[in-house]
Order: sequence, then structure tokens, then C-alpha cells
Amino acid sequence: MTPDWRGEAARGPHADLVVHRPQGLYCPPGDFYIDPWRPVDRAVITHAHADHARRGHGAYLATAISEGVLRARLGDIRLQGVAYGELVDINGVRVSLHPAGHVLGSAQVRIEHRGQVWVASGDYFVQGADESGADTNSTCAAFEPVRCDCFITESTFGLPIYRWPTAAAVFANVNSWWQANAQAGRASLLLGYSFGKAQRLLAGVDASIGPLLVHSAVEPLNRAYRAAGVALPATRLVSELTDKTELRRALVVAPPAVHGSVWARGLGELSDGFASGWMQLRGGRRRQGVDRGFVLSDHADWPGLQRAIVATGASRVIVTHGYEAVMVRWLQQQGLEAGSFQTEYASDGADNGDGGDAAEAVQPVISA
Ligand SMILES: [Zn+2]
Ligand SMILES: [Zn+2]
Repeated sequence: MTPDWRGEAARGPHADLVVHRPQGLYCPPGDFYIDPWRPVDRAVITHAHADHARRGHGAYLATAISEGVLRARLGDIRLQGVAYGELVDINGVRVSLHPAGHVLGSAQVRIEHRGQVWVASGDYFVQGADESGADTNSTCAAFEPVRCDCFITESTFGLPIYRWPTAAAVFANVNSWWQANAQAGRASLLLGYSFGKAQRLLAGVDASIGPLLVHSAVEPLNRAYRAAGVALPATRLVSELTDKTELRRALVVAPPAVHGSVWARGLGELSDGFASGWMQLRGGRRRQGVDRGFVLSDHADWPGLQRAIVATGASRVIVTHGYEAVMVRWLQQQGLEAGSFQTEYASDGADNGDGGDAAEAVQPVISA
């Protein structure tokens, strides 16, 4: 056995399977990182959002279904793609990836070593306050609870104020807004991150209302979804439009970075809306300067996080990526051992691959 030169807890049978290091979350017995934010030799990637899948690692392991998006974004990388549930041995550690319900190919990482099981969630979406079972993300495999001793959970929306309406209710609002705009002869510009949110919007709206158009940042990802077998309605690029009068009845899906741009002004008279979990906050819509805010997130809300954590059966929970302190306190009240890791992942607002979107993150500052 290698000496404990890293200064971490001794590698006994109950040593931690994931620890925090400057480069990212690290598995000492397996000698690999999970979604590292600095270059490392071996990275297990939960999903292809830019803050989780970065350039410069020696080797990548991810779901085969996310391969197309990863390669498109990161170029010529050394990537091993695996199926959900497929076991991979990394230095004697059993590693497998399980659906996280967040975006195409998103996964939780299950790590088993010497009888201990840890799961690192990455970003995940589960249905929230509505427990009917109807509220899933139709564009990717649904979150699968994985039994474990220790669960490392994200907590992007880990505050009791976050309770998502059902997707059906949100899409009813989007459709009636689009319908009203089409009747008034103006375009509907719907802003959402180009990887994940845009496809969820396209899959959820009523395509019979009018033409569905997209920004050029969105269409390559639509192609990746379609190639993976996800049903999306037909879309056209705004730039391909020959009859500009079609814009007046169209729903245009584009990344938030286009808001207020020359490109957006080229759409003519329009109403704009923004789809994000942050829209639940009073002032979220105003802060973004859009006409409408639609509460639609690819992350779990407060009841969803709680339900997902309990379903793992974990006696220990490590919180990352959001409002750690509030979630840690709640977990401790449930009698669980809880702590947090400081990570360098973005908030929902910047959780994308569009670069420029990061400046438009609308994560609120909450004082209480
Ligand atoms: Zn993400
Ligand atoms: Zn994230």
C-alpha cells in the first residue's frame, strides 16, 4: 500500500472514499477525480455541463450517451464511455454510473471499495413537491436512487423556498404566453441554457401553436439529443428563415446570453421569457429584464433533494454546490452525519457551455 503522503485520513477499511482536494473531489483508493476543476490524470465526469466537464484531463470516463456532447465541447479527449450500471474497475475500486435525471447522459457516480459504498450525485433532478410521478424530465433518463453509506449531494436549490410547480403547469403557461404573442403578431423569445434546458423546453411546448425556431448555439445539442434517441419536435435555425413573417407566430429558443443583443433585435417585435429555477424568486424576472419568468429547473427543489437523500439510505451526507449550511442543518436534525465540501461548480445560471452565459447568472444573495 502506498504511504499516506497526501496527508489524508489513513486508508483503513473505513477510510473516506471521496475527499476534497484543490483539484476537485478525489477518490484515494481509486486514484481518480470526479468532475475536477483543475487538470488531473483521470477524471470521472458526471455530465457535460461546462463547470463539470473541463478541458485538460489525461483520461475521461463518462456515460456513452454523453460522449457526443463531451467530444463536441472538449475536442479530441481520451474518453471511455460506459453504459448506465456498467461496472468499471479502477485500481480495485468498483465504479459505475447511474441516471441523475439532469441532462442527456447525466450520471451519479457509485464507488464501492472494501464493502463501503459512496455515491457522488453530480447535478440531479427529481420530481419536487408534486409526488404524482408525472413530473419527470422527458429528455433524459430519470434519477435512480442508489443505496449507499455516504451520499455526496448537490444543493443548488437547497432552501425551503424552492418548490417547483409541475412541468405540466409551467408548460401550460408557456403555451398560453406563446399563443397570445402569436395572436398579437409578435415573436416569443424563450431563453434557456443551450444544453439541457433548451431541449426540455422544445420537448415540452405545444408545437402546433406555430413555427419552432432556435439559435445556432442550440441546434448542435438538439442533434446530439436526437442522435441519442430523444424525441424533439422539428426545429429550424432563425438564420435559415426565408419568410420573416413566420417570426410573428414563432417560438424562438435561445441561450440567455442573446438577451438584448443585436441578434435578438433582429427578431422584430417580441415578448421574452426566461426559464430557470431562479425565476421562483420575487425579482428574478425583473433582474433579468424579461417580460416573463418560467420556473423550470434541471435541479431538484427542496422537497426533491430531501426525498432523494432519504431514498439513498445513507447515514452520512456531504453537501456541495449550493446552500450547504441550510441543508447540513436539516440533515443533522434528521439524525444524519452531515458535512460539506466547497466545490467550484457554477450556480444554475452559469451551468451551461455557452461561456458568455456565466455573466448572466442570476443566483440571488439571500441574507436570512
Ligand atoms: Zn449541470
Ligand atoms: Zn452543476
